Amino acid sequence: MNIILMGPPGAGKGTQADFIKAKYRVPHISTGDMFRDAVKKGTPMGQEAKKYMNEGKLVPDQVTIGIVEDRLAEDDCQAGFLLDGFPRTINQAEALDKVMDKLGKKIDAAINIFVPDKILIERMSGRVSCKECGTVYHLVFSPPSQSGKCDKCSGELIQRSDDNAETAVNRLQVYIEQTSPLLDYYKNKGLLKDVDGNRDSKSVGSEIESILNGL
Ligand code: ADP
Ligand code: ADP
Ligand code: ZN
Repeated sequence: MNIILMGPPGAGKGTQADFIKAKYRVPHISTGDMFRDAVKKGTPMGQEAKKYMNEGKLVPDQVTIGIVEDRLAEDDCQAGFLLDGFPRTINQAEALDKVMDKLGKKIDAAINIFVPDKILIERMSGRVSCKECGTVYHLVFSPPSQSGKCDKCSGELIQRSDDNAETAVNRLQVYIEQTSPLLDYYKNKGLLKDVDGNRDSKSVGSEIESILNGL
């Protein structure tokens, strides 16, 4: 099962990816998480990526395609994978097709979670995540039981630096300009599955589950 999870920033990709990976036991490959990890570790790639992420811009394709290509060649991806936040440009999608050809594989579905812009801004502005284990919460929609503390590990909850109002708006604009053309790209291949993400996350998850079971 080789799946792409698409949708604008804040649509719920990471939240749904957590459900899917637990149920179908496929590795969750989030380019955003990979970049944030590299930033945290201060690697040269992280230092480069940080400049773009802080402004809500896309990290250049050359860097992004390279890390995904390496990741997909790893052993744990051989029985399937879940890509979250990649591809985000036509160039990345074409590069992914080439990598898949080379590996003798194909994409089975591109799941597009769609949500109105106003709700996306609310979701980004209230998003916090655990500094230790990465679990994502929302201050209003899915708050932790104790303020500022992770339910799972008691780690400190922090806000992503790119979830501030100005950068969030930039990210939405970048999505419209550079990523939304991918919807037609996958539609034309017969792979696009639209899912209404403006519902509680369980309902969204059930619909995704029925799509995956029907593949
Ligand atoms: P993405 O990975 O697409 O940027 P996330 O999964 O991190 O999105 O979700 C963004 C924020 O919205 C998080 O704070 C998350 O807890 C919250 N969220 C996710 N799905 C829903 C939903 N269906 N309803 C309400 N809030 C949601
Ligand atoms: P969200 O879906 O909430 O915007 P992500 O965690 O997927 O967040 O991405 C955070 C940031 O990481 C993006 O704004 C961008 O700077 C960078 N990034 C992630 N994936 C890609 C990608 N495929 N191509 C270029 N930049 C990316
Ligand atoms: Zn935690």
